[in-house]
Amino acid sequence: MRIGFLGLGTMGEPMANNLRRAGHAMTVWNRTPSKAEHIVAKGATLATTPRECATAQDIVFVCLADERALEQVLDGENGAIAGLGAGSILVDTSTSGVRATRWMQDRVSARGASLVSAPVLGSKVAAEKAQLIVVAGGAPQALERARPALHAISARVVELESPQHAALMKLVVNAVGGAMITGFSEALALGAGGGLDLAKMIETVQASSFHSPIYLMKGEQVLAKDWEPRFAIALAEKDQRLAQEAADAYGAKMPINSAVRRLFADAVESGRGDKDLCAVADLMFDWAGVKR
Ligand code: NAP
Repeated sequence: MRIGFLGLGTMGEPMANNLRRAGHAMTVWNRTPSKAEHIVAKGATLATTPRECATAQDIVFVCLADERALEQVLDGENGAIAGLGAGSILVDTSTSGVRATRWMQDRVSARGASLVSAPVLGSKVAAEKAQLIVVAGGAPQALERARPALHAISARVVELESPQHAALMKLVVNAVGGAMITGFSEALALGAGGGLDLAKMIETVQASSFHSPIYLMKGEQVLAKDWEPRFAIALAEKDQRLAQEAADAYGAKMPINSAVRRLFADAVESGRGDKDLCAVADLMFDWAGVKR
């Protein structure tokens, strides 16, 4: 297929690469063009505008930071939506939330194209290994046409009946993840503040029935003070904000999520917004007066 791909960040670049490896003809665009150099060297075409990237493609993927980025890249005369042909498909792999997904669907349908919302579970390494879990929602014909491309970036595709449901499912998963990471971090800070050894704490939590692969992975990063972003705190804050917005819209109460969002916002305000999610533990060590 002819595929356009907009947004070559931590997640977008490896996804675009796996689509290229699967044999699709790739045209790419990124706000910072230097991030496209690697994939262009491997044969992808570099578009000069989002519109050009979306023109004459069977499928157009986007993987962008937040709603502001989506609006800037998709909307307007040189935006990607203006380039979509009738019958083409826009696949949004960003975590966009329900409201922005509805906005996209209206605009994309007005061009005679279809939206598949396809947020992804898994981080940088899973994206590189094409081992993501894709939660895909859209009309049956659009899902059918997008399926081979979605399988080229993932280990599994979970299909839902609408783009809004897929967008909401991703918020549900990240609300769980946000609570786990912040709960783990504050517990480690409590123990470290009282003199417990960090490695022993992680080992003991992992030996308990509360163990989790995410505690193992992030625990190793915390031990090594490795804050290199696989998933940046600013994006994690955005995801909890989107969950809060959805909770308001659907009448759900999420007091834990509200606290988690505040903690990620505190981490952003402390200058850690571009650090990995697990650097929230670093903030909590500071609060506990733990010197490492
Ligand atoms: P990232 O590395 O920060 O990349 C963000 C992308 O958005 C880059 O291509 C960036 O362009 C572009 N962008 C940001 N603001 C823009 C603007 N105003 N105009 C145009 N382009 C803009 O983020 P990521 O980790 O790949 O995440 C991308 C999406 O996937 C997010 O919605 C995130 O929540 C979601 N997600 C991430 C993970 C993860 O583990 N990282 C996992 C699942 C889902 P530049 O290169 O020019 O900055």
